[in-house]
Amino acid sequence: MHEMSIAMSIVEIAEETAREANADKVFKVNVDIGELSGVMSDSVLFCYEACATSEIVAGSELVVNSIEAVASCPSCENSFSPKDRYFLCPGCGGPAGLLQGEELSVRSVELS
Ligand SMILES: [Zn+2]
Repeated sequence: MHEMSIAMSIVEIAEETAREANADKVFKVNVDIGELSGVMSDSVLFCYEACATSEIVAGSELVVNSIEAVASCPSCENSFSPKDRYFLCPGCGGPAGLLQGEELSVRSVELS
C-alpha cells in the first residue's frame, strides 16, 4: 500500500528530527500534499496513526496541508488550476506547465 510507506517515511523523518534536536517527543508534523500527487490524505492520516507507535512519535498529530494545483501557459500567460495530470491550456489549447500541486513533503516537525 502506497500510503502506508509514505506514512512510514513521515514517521522516520519525525523521529530523526526529534533525535537530532535531543527532544523526547514529537508534538505535531506538518506535511504538504499536492492535489495532483496522487496521494490520498485520509489514507496517510490513517496509516500515520497506525505506524506512529514508537515512544517518540506516539500521540503526535499529523497535519496535512493540501496544495492546490496551479499551472500556467507560456504562450498566453493564462494561469489555471488543472484537475488532472494531463491538461492543456483552457485559453489557447496549448501545452502548459505545472507550477505546484505535485508536492509530497514534510514541511515541519514540532517538538515538545
Ligand atoms: Zn494558453
